[in-house]
Amino acid sequence: MKRVYLDWNATTSLRPEARAAMISAMDVIGNPSSVHAEGRDAMAIIEHARLQIKQAFGASSSDIIFTSSATESAGLALANRNILSANIEHDCVLSWTNPTLKTNSDGIVEVLNPEVSAVQAANNETGILQDLPPNLALCDYVQAFGKISCAFEWSKSQMGLLSGHKIGGPKGIGALVLKQGLDVDAQIRGGGQEMGRRSGTQNVIGIAGFGAAAHAAIRDLENGVWQEVAELRDLLEETLLDAVPDINIFGKNCKRLPNTSYFSVYGWKGELQVMQMDLAGFAVSAGSACSSGKVKSSKVLKAMGYDDIIASSALRVSLGPENTKEDVLNFASAWIKAYKKFTSKAA
Ligand code: PLP
Repeated sequence: MKRVYLDWNATTSLRPEARAAMISAMDVIGNPSSVHAEGRDAMAIIEHARLQIKQAFGASSSDIIFTSSATESAGLALANRNILSANIEHDCVLSWTNPTLKTNSDGIVEVLNPEVSAVQAANNETGILQDLPPNLALCDYVQAFGKISCAFEWSKSQMGLLSGHKIGGPKGIGALVLKQGLDVDAQIRGGGQEMGRRSGTQNVIGIAGFGAAAHAAIRDLENGVWQEVAELRDLLEETLLDAVPDINIFGKNCKRLPNTSYFSVYGWKGELQVMQMDLAGFAVSAGSACSSGKVKSSKVLKAMGYDDIIASSALRVSLGPENTKEDVLNFASAWIKAYKKFTSKAA
């Protein structure tokens, strides 16, 4: 059976440009902290990738600190600060913040004091985009970067989170973007790498892949690749809406990421849908995949005011540029078939 991957918000396939940059970095022997030529070659790879990410993200006068993940970047940014957030944030931000900000039924966060608030650019489950206020303490750009233009938006935040594997780079590499002049409390201490903010010999290969992926991601964005993905997402939603009148599509009329469709049928557990779709050959997700494979009711939907039953009946389809019209229509017909089974059992 041909597998169809529709879980791009969980992670992406490795871009050929990232693979090539990584393969070439594998042959560089030096430690980037060494002063000899071999060390300088390794450092040159890191600095090239740093520049690629700065340019792609539109943050030329900011610092980029490489970490192992956006999750680590969040800890580095938020440790020892009193920052507010809303319950729709990713757990890596929630774990370090006080989630007292309110979210309305359209998934928009009410930010009263941006300078002490962390707000994501785009939600990983619903794809809903925030209207970011200026002077935000921190913005999680993990899902937005590469799919929509962040260049202008970045100027509104003091700190930003990025992750390599969401843009076609390798897993296990992330960055913290810092406005110049701002400091963070190093959490990993030792040799003073990354301007003393994150010690430990850098992941040269991962960084090379991240930089190349960022460069290619912005080229694709500018070439309208995600516009084509949005058309596929719309086709999917129209097909499902035509066949299933009681489907609820979250954020349908909100500003959303171009690739994300999040929907539910009352009482049909998201977890069960994921298994049924998996057996039919499709990789999709019931909300966030980041909690070690555990599927719980969605705290994002709960923050938007939905009840527990709806919040545990949601399925997320997140498309990527490799998906085709055929993938989307085949998924729709498999899901509609499973829906009919669900309703006939429930009757
Ligand atoms: N923030 C958002 C919005 C995410 O979707 C994710 C991963 O799913 C993260 C942060 C964490 O990224 P990483 O996997 O690099 O730790």
